[in-house]
Amino acid sequence: MEAPVDRQTFEQVMVPNYSPLPMIPVSGRGSRVWDQHGKNYIDFAGGIAVTALGHSHPDLIRTLQQQSEQLWHLSNVWTNEPAILLAQTLCKKTFAERVYFANSGAEANEAAFKLARKYAHDHFGSEKNEIISCINSFHGRTLFTVSVGGQDKYCQGFEPIPGGITHIPFNDIPALRAAVSNNSCAVVIEPIQGEGGIIPAERAFLQSARELCDQHNALLIYDEIQTGVGRTGKLYAYEHTQITPDILTTAKALGCGFPIGAMLCRKEVAAAFTVGSHGSTYGGNPLGCAIANRVLTLIDEPELLAGVTQKHLLFIHELGLLNQKYPLFREFRGQGLLIGCELQPDYQGKARQLLQIAQEEGLMALIAGPNVIRFTPSLIIPDQEILEGLARFGQAMERFLLEC
Ligand SMILES: *Cc1c(COP(=O)(O)O)cnc(C)c1O
Repeated sequence: MEAPVDRQTFEQVMVPNYSPLPMIPVSGRGSRVWDQHGKNYIDFAGGIAVTALGHSHPDLIRTLQQQSEQLWHLSNVWTNEPAILLAQTLCKKTFAERVYFANSGAEANEAAFKLARKYAHDHFGSEKNEIISCINSFHGRTLFTVSVGGQDKYCQGFEPIPGGITHIPFNDIPALRAAVSNNSCAVVIEPIQGEGGIIPAERAFLQSARELCDQHNALLIYDEIQTGVGRTGKLYAYEHTQITPDILTTAKALGCGFPIGAMLCRKEVAAAFTVGSHGSTYGGNPLGCAIANRVLTLIDEPELLAGVTQKHLLFIHELGLLNQKYPLFREFRGQGLLIGCELQPDYQGKARQLLQIAQEEGLMALIAGPNVIRFTPSLIIPDQEILEGLARFGQAMERFLLEC
């Protein structure tokens, strides 16, 4: 049967801000995806660290069906049981005492940055508005979040951008110390820079950020949109270091594919948002919250989280073997199932080419910048599919060496 639309149709009807790969996926189950022609792929992309329980998880389908027959939407003129339950769960499982719901990562960050400004304004005056962020960081695509993000290219052409934002090199403690002052309202950090190339924050950097924030009455914000919900082997990555933020943002895997984001914070900080300060029509809608509740129940299990760490080791071991045969990579890094493979200097800028070949070999993967292949598969991908996916990746590596 002829497909009703194809990749050419995309060019005819879509705003050209994306350049998706040629194949169009039409169905998925677990860590496998099928395209319009019935060809199967192993999914190491996981919707960019979103589908943490794979595709079509039976429990999530059931939850979605049940909630869809009960109540979809109310707005925030009324509250609802799934939202309150989800907030209660997040408070129980983390440092947080209060939760704000949004529909995406960028919106969760937008709320976090606005809250930090408002908190500083109310307690210390309007001079205290400076946000310190890291070069190469990524915090979303709204105007405020791209401005806080540390990749100039995402701001170019959109000026004037919001002011009061300072960027320092990631993991640079002297630069951080020089930047944080009594005019700082927040320091924003990804525990592992995701889009920036899978670069972990050093413990000492996080520790310094915590201390400097405390000294200067600034808030420490962790953007855990990519690292959260089990991705690193803990529910949230901050648990690895015990260096706790004042505000944490989470999205991506929280809904495993249903759009939802959240901002978590302490009670005293939350109080700066009073009635009417901020809001969202869909934020905290019963459908998204019911699903996220189920997601947290399934993911925050010792066995599942231990599995993430084991699967990391399997990936790194097998990638090391492939790299002996086809020496393409200078380093493998990351934590849990957030893995970056950085190309050797000889192959700079060619990550996307390798990605394309991998897809032809039946593997869906991602890049993180021009030099890094990124894997963010389902947290419950069976070991057998990791091996099969890596075998396909090995074929792609072999072809890449011959063709590129
Ligand atoms: C994906 C991501 C965002 C943006 O999330 P959206 O849902 O795309 O708005 C923000 N921060 C980090 C660290 C991310 O990985």
